[in-house]
Amino acid sequence: YGLNLTSFQDRKGKSPLWRIGALDPGAIKAKQKKLAKNFPRAKELRFRQEQIALMDSGYLEFDASKCIDCGICTDVCKNKQTVDFYETVGKGFETQTKPTDEEAKDCVNCGQCVVHCPVGAIQGVPHWQRVEELLKSKKKHGKIIIGQIAPSVRVSIGEEFGLPAGQVMTGQLAASLRQVGFDAAFDVTVSADFTTYEEARELIHWLNAGKPRPMITSCCPGWVRFAEFYFPEFISHLTSTRSPEIISGALVKSYWAKIKKVKPEDIIVVSVMPCTAKKQEISLERHRLSNGLPAVDYVLTTREYAYLLKKNNINLAKIKPANMDNPLAVSSGAAVIYGASGGVMESALRTAEYFLQLKKQDNHWQEKILGGEKQCGDYKKVSALNNKRLEFKAVRGLGGLKEATVKLAGVKLKVAVVNGLGNARKLLTAIQNKKAHYDYLEIMACPGGCIGGGGQPVPTNSAIRAKRAAALYDVDQKLSIHSAHANEGLLKTYGEFFQGDEKMIEELLHCHYQIGERRGYKVAK
Ligand code: SF4
Repeated sequence: YGLNLTSFQDRKGKSPLWRIGALDPGAIKAKQKKLAKNFPRAKELRFRQEQIALMDSGYLEFDASKCIDCGICTDVCKNKQTVDFYETVGKGFETQTKPTDEEAKDCVNCGQCVVHCPVGAIQGVPHWQRVEELLKSKKKHGKIIIGQIAPSVRVSIGEEFGLPAGQVMTGQLAASLRQVGFDAAFDVTVSADFTTYEEARELIHWLNAGKPRPMITSCCPGWVRFAEFYFPEFISHLTSTRSPEIISGALVKSYWAKIKKVKPEDIIVVSVMPCTAKKQEISLERHRLSNGLPAVDYVLTTREYAYLLKKNNINLAKIKPANMDNPLAVSSGAAVIYGASGGVMESALRTAEYFLQLKKQDNHWQEKILGGEKQCGDYKKVSALNNKRLEFKAVRGLGGLKEATVKLAGVKLKVAVVNGLGNARKLLTAIQNKKAHYDYLEIMACPGGCIGGGGQPVPTNSAIRAKRAAALYDVDQKLSIHSAHANEGLLKTYGEFFQGDEKMIEELLHCHYQIGERRGYKVAK
């Protein structure tokens, strides 16, 4: 407004912009240099080097000039998530809320500060500008651009367009991706079925091998980062199965690329995610394929994608629904509930029960399921968990922790589901102190799971999370298949593409973890 007269000094005018998780320019250069061995063509090498510069420029962005020092981010990070990455320093006009310099603390990128900040001072580092530029100049870059949608986004994005929480927008999302310029629309629920299939197989190996309990889910990058930095002794308890997002990208750049006869490096995969931590996940070396390509190229949060649509005059509330693309178009209901806390566990148990039943009937069960055989047992009959919800009991005194004892084909398992990192810390500490014992745990960093993720529409509160979760369970009930092992598309992929090749399954569907180094933050301006 050109207001020049004020009796107050502009105490925030020259405040910095912090990039949380950013690498040093020298480290980025070293990574860019290493790319030369995989990308001999100069144009492609330049493209991939620019990509690394964005991926490693940080995951969250804190614009201190907007901050009003209300302390809500500090509170949620310290008291709810127990990460304690922010601090408020100074007094009076000198007060400043900032990322901490303490070596023992680091951000896990869950983005709970983002959804709690009342003035939008903290955001995921934006990828939308690059994605928009790529969509507008596909020919120049010679790329096919794929959009893929996470399970929970379908029940939250409508809120950005004035619709009530819990409105299911799957068809509208597919149509919007094409309208804004993507070449194909994929649903990450399809690859969530692959995650379930491999996770259930891993659970059975875990039980057979008598490995230390509990086995713990690993599809939440916020939780994995928390384990790698704050609880490294639990790294060996994480399942090696990749997250649905990464599996989806890996399958698009291998299976789908083969079907379409396109070079994997000419495919760009853009994820629409409820999550700011996914921006970190895609940048990890462990999620590069053997040809040097990242499984996923860019991540837009739910809010970023809604912004991109609005900017291009696309109203999701008015768009005509369409189908997701083949051959990765069909998923089970078990995959849709991945978006809510408890969903991953429930899906894995449905399929683990089937595998255990099968194991009793057939010594060659494993070769058969990896070969995609449909006739290896009647999954509808053998899976009692197939058509009903698993009942979890809330554990008194620990909100966000639910437990159950399940019997799978005669095998008794004590399982628990945790959401929110404060709850995870309590439970892991109890396990360390031998005060709690579980066989299998699901841990998600955000309250309520991904429906409460750091990239979701604001406001996100418990009433809104409940509506989003209810909508996901409703979709599960309405879909005709309820288990990953009943997904014909998945069986076809195992049969035709993997053909029992364990090495290929390992490369595309599994990964390994390591002790987390502190990334801290860098000043961007
Ligand atoms: Fe991301 Fe979901 Fe984990 Fe939150 S719970 S950090 S949204 S994967």
